[in-house]
Amino acid sequence: IATIQLKDIKKLYKIGGETVAALDGITTNIYQGEFAALMGPSGSGKSTLMNILGCLDRPTVGSYKLDGQEVAGLSDDKLAVTRNKKIGFVFQNFNLLSRISALENVALPLVYSGVGRKERLEKAMHFLEAVGLADRAEHQPNELSGGQRQRVAIARALVNDPHIIMADEPTGNLDTKSTKEIMEIFQKMHGMGRTIILVTHEPEIAACASRQLLVRDGKITRDEGRGVVMDVI
Ligand code: ADP
Ligand code: ADP
Repeated sequence: IATIQLKDIKKLYKIGGETVAALDGITTNIYQGEFAALMGPSGSGKSTLMNILGCLDRPTVGSYKLDGQEVAGLSDDKLAVTRNKKIGFVFQNFNLLSRISALENVALPLVYSGVGRKERLEKAMHFLEAVGLADRAEHQPNELSGGQRQRVAIARALVNDPHIIMADEPTGNLDTKSTKEIMEIFQKMHGMGRTIILVTHEPEIAACASRQLLVRDGKITRDEGRGVVMDVI
């Protein structure tokens, strides 16, 4: 079965007396190991869709099954547990805590998972190594470049070993060289079999994905490369 199954998802907002459909009937499957890029103009519904996919928000109407489990029926606590276990998040602005080290930032999600300190730091170091930043473990975010900060954020997204990675404009604040490095890391994660969903405005970034979805007026209006899963390394 598909990792993500969306059936006629709608998200409605009441503004004044009017109802606005931020999402207006989204039906699609995303399969384990797919690398999907979400594109579309500002206001088309990408953030709303990502919030629902990421279990940060629920649809007004429709069904979202994550690994076969209906998300709409979960309590807030269960939703949070599911999110923490299954999904790693990467943001445009990195969202690192500024007063703690890179290593401690990476270890943070493990605090919520109840992992002991020694194991937290070992795991965090493992993932910092994986993104090539073991030698920056004790640095605080403000002592790192943008690209390095995003690598720390990716290590943090991976530390709970989620099988899905969701990223919203992860290279939006990076220069060309860092963008290339970050996209190589995404392709490596994809090669290792993780499912990746990435929002981007840039066609060059979307071209790194195996599937491109275009969102317009709360609907998916184009879907290319669907079901193409690249070779696992
Ligand atoms: P995108 O991420 O593609 O820019 P959004 O998902 O942020 O699009 O927004 C889609 C539409 O839904 C827009 O018209 C936006 O104004 C509206 N919208 C999003 N969130 C809310 C909200 N919390 N309340 C009311 N309207 C919202
Ligand atoms: P993005 O830059 O990702 O497109 P937006 O600037 O559209 O994001 O929205 C930022 C936040 O504000 C989101 O959390 C969204 O849900 C909320 N939002 C967007 N449009 C509206 C709106 N018309 N009314 C209330 N909240 C909104």
